[in-house]
Amino acid sequence: MDATEAIRNAHEWFEVNSGWAPPDEDELAEWLADGVCRCPDDCLVRPDGWCLHGLASWSLILGALDED
Ligand SMILES: [Zn+2]
Repeated sequence: MDATEAIRNAHEWFEVNSGWAPPDEDELAEWLADGVCRCPDDCLVRPDGWCLHGLASWSLILGALDED
């Protein structure tokens, strides 16, 4: 598993799950200030990590979108 794969997993997860929403900027900034992040399924992870379920953190997901 690497970040690219975790991000891909998250996008697949988005397609089969509803009710999720990306964090707003303030929320994300608060997590990062604490040295943590959340995944789309609410797991607590490192900002550059992914959860046991293979989903990338929002920080990774949103960062990848910015690169496009
Ligand atoms: Zn998870």
